[in-house]
Amino acid sequence: MNDYLKTSIFEHKKVRFDKDSIKHSLSNSLTYSVGKDTVTATDRDMFFATAYMVRNRLIDRWMETMRSYYVNDVKRVYYFSLEFLMGRTLMNGVHNLAFEQQFREALKESAINLDEIREVEPDAALGNGGLGRLAACFLDSMATLDLPGYGYGIRYEYGMFAQRIEDGRQVEHPDNWLRYGNPWEFPRPEVLHQVKFHGRVVQYADERGMLRYHWIDTDDVMAMAFDTPIPGYGTRTANNMRLWSAKATRDFELRYFNEGNYVKAVEDKNASENLSKVLYPDDSTAMGRELRLKQQYFFVCASLHDILRRYRKYQNNFDALPDKVAIQLNDTHPAIAIPELMRLLVDLHHLEWEKAWNITTRTFAYTNHTLMPEALETWAVTLFESILPRHLQIIYEINRRLLRDVMHRYPGDNGILRRMSIIDEEGGRRIRMAHLAIVGSHKVNGVAQIHTELMKQTIFRDFDRFFPGKIINITNGITPRRWLNQANRRLAELITSRIGPGWIKDLTQLKRLVPLADDASFREEFAAVKRLDKERLVAMLKKKLGIDINPDSLFDVQIKRIHEYKRQLLNVLHVVTLYNRIRHDPNAGHVHRTVIFGGKAAPGYSMAKLIIKLINDIADIVNNDPRVAGHLKVVFIPNYDVSTAEEMIPAADLSEQISTAGTEASGTGNMKLALNGALTIGTLDGANIEIREEVGEDNIFIFGLTATEITEMKANGYQPLDFYHSNAELRTVLDMIGSGFFSPDEPGRFKPVIDTLLQHGDKYFLLADYASYIACQKKVDAAYQDQEEWIRKAILNVAQMGKFSSDRTILQYANEIWDAKPAKPAPLQVDEIG
Ligand SMILES: *Cc1c(COP(=O)(O)O)cnc(C)c1O
Repeated sequence: MNDYLKTSIFEHKKVRFDKDSIKHSLSNSLTYSVGKDTVTATDRDMFFATAYMVRNRLIDRWMETMRSYYVNDVKRVYYFSLEFLMGRTLMNGVHNLAFEQQFREALKESAINLDEIREVEPDAALGNGGLGRLAACFLDSMATLDLPGYGYGIRYEYGMFAQRIEDGRQVEHPDNWLRYGNPWEFPRPEVLHQVKFHGRVVQYADERGMLRYHWIDTDDVMAMAFDTPIPGYGTRTANNMRLWSAKATRDFELRYFNEGNYVKAVEDKNASENLSKVLYPDDSTAMGRELRLKQQYFFVCASLHDILRRYRKYQNNFDALPDKVAIQLNDTHPAIAIPELMRLLVDLHHLEWEKAWNITTRTFAYTNHTLMPEALETWAVTLFESILPRHLQIIYEINRRLLRDVMHRYPGDNGILRRMSIIDEEGGRRIRMAHLAIVGSHKVNGVAQIHTELMKQTIFRDFDRFFPGKIINITNGITPRRWLNQANRRLAELITSRIGPGWIKDLTQLKRLVPLADDASFREEFAAVKRLDKERLVAMLKKKLGIDINPDSLFDVQIKRIHEYKRQLLNVLHVVTLYNRIRHDPNAGHVHRTVIFGGKAAPGYSMAKLIIKLINDIADIVNNDPRVAGHLKVVFIPNYDVSTAEEMIPAADLSEQISTAGTEASGTGNMKLALNGALTIGTLDGANIEIREEVGEDNIFIFGLTATEITEMKANGYQPLDFYHSNAELRTVLDMIGSGFFSPDEPGRFKPVIDTLLQHGDKYFLLADYASYIACQKKVDAAYQDQEEWIRKAILNVAQMGKFSSDRTILQYANEIWDAKPAKPAPLQVDEIG
């Protein structure tokens, strides 16, 4: 008898969404959950009371959804990711449950100031940037599309560091986001899995003479589950995100009684709980640290245990696993899941290798996020062997079979064996996690057309020939719920007033705004919205940084991780060029620009940190030079995270997407900005290419070398000094920076920056693209001077961004990789509709 089909002994009345029920629930939460009265309640108490009220409204749907997946035995999709960059949850809950109006009224009548309490909520910043935010957008889309999708990851105690700027430099502060408790999560102390590390492998023959393997003498850690409901928009579906937290095993307690060394035992306990302590804050280099490898295996092992336990409620063998389970690997970070599933099937459940391998490869799929060699994960065989000895053996066996098959296909070709091997034999043996992920998956996807093409032509060329059709493209997307409906209420309401609210679940409906670009009254309203959003950012900057910004100036925005390939430095070269032009000819009718930067540098990435200092030093000089006042301002907004992104994006006029062609896999910041009516200045890189296709080349500013031209230039020996010598304006700019014009207190401070360009080969082709970038910025200025035309282009951008909804992306994953179907829940009941 199915437990879920029995009637619950607890009959509860479902929560309601009318104003009075909300008020009642707020007051109950404050009293009975927070334990305060209105006299003593702080803003934080009020935030918690409000959060509990919203959370209560998620739970019926969440439980029903989980129950219906179980009862209908649906195929589930598991999104494995070391990062989930969720941001705040409060307003997301309110909007996805579609009860904003009653919510606002109820808070008002309860004397709760929404603007103040929502600021109390810390961002859940369990991610570095694009990759982690993608995972968060995907969870929103899976729930909205009624797909049985689960997020699996780590509940880091400390997320992405908080960035403060002190004397113009980045200073990292710990992100103790759980300090006051997390109202959105449910601890599940009973969901506990054992995770083994180290130890050794013993071989033995079983009763039938088969070779078997035992992994013994291990150091063990427990993984404890924390669950967070993920509500879809305008549906009863609420999915689950399960994050694992490290707990010491009970052995520690036994051991200190036995050994009498209590303090040492507690120290050891701490050491094992350190596993889930902190997110690694580097999104661009694979750092090969022991703790990171342990984090990867820790969450993968716990998640697979959990998935197989769930699977086996209905199935007594593993034949149907690929029909009931799809696991998507977000980059190679969770790729250890492949040998782990093999270990479970072969060592624990005694399946034959071929059968286990068939099941495994049909279960996994892998998303690649980068072509850059320094970001491709590899692990030293020696380190891997000490931490996961059995997995190393399994990887060797996977590799042996791969190379045997390759050899049959290409007899005598040793080059291809060396290139395709999972083990890199050169300079200390290392495991290439991308090769493991490709071999162990039935589909591998890139995240934008150009990225997938380059994958197939360059780093994975041999694999594409060997496994034709395995590598496919699925262009990234963003959720329109957070990135337009929530972040830009004014624009969302304007759009809804003209085309109705259908766009929120079907972003292609924005196309219906195209004709309105030619409607003067719509343009006026659109311009008024942009103006108010700019004023809001101006007020925020005044309050937080004490600076004055002119809302009429062109807001030129580059917000993303600071990285040389993203070329914040090229933007800086433009700023200094403008500064010089304005100083030398103040009356030439310059467009007033406010150049806004935001982004974190990896703590160990000294060049990126120096670029932050350079931006701030330039801001100091430029913003205090009366000759350019009224023409140019430079601002670095500290601590770029999801919440600051939500504040900045609606206010942007110009979106800087200027990575070296061939380096940015997709980008998603480009999508958020264009969807909010910023025009893009960008290279033909990542999703910029597809954005141009959608919005039309008249409505985007493209410059620079193409990926092919970059490759050719590299092959022919790129000489950055040629550009330095032949372009006087560029030379002046570089000389100013290099000789201390912006750092008079330390003239040599930025010499290392200039040296990367002139002495060390300008790896990212800034000098080669400089002239084209400056000329393109000139066109931007000219376009901005015709405000009617600019607004027309901005509307056409918004109207033609429908393709970039993560709903489209997720439907493609569901159809082309997962073979997953929506599990339609019961329709919303009348009293539950907001
Ligand atoms: C979208 C987003 C990113 C990714 O930006 P890119 O411009 O695509 O690199 C990074 N960080 C945050 C907080 C984001 O919201």
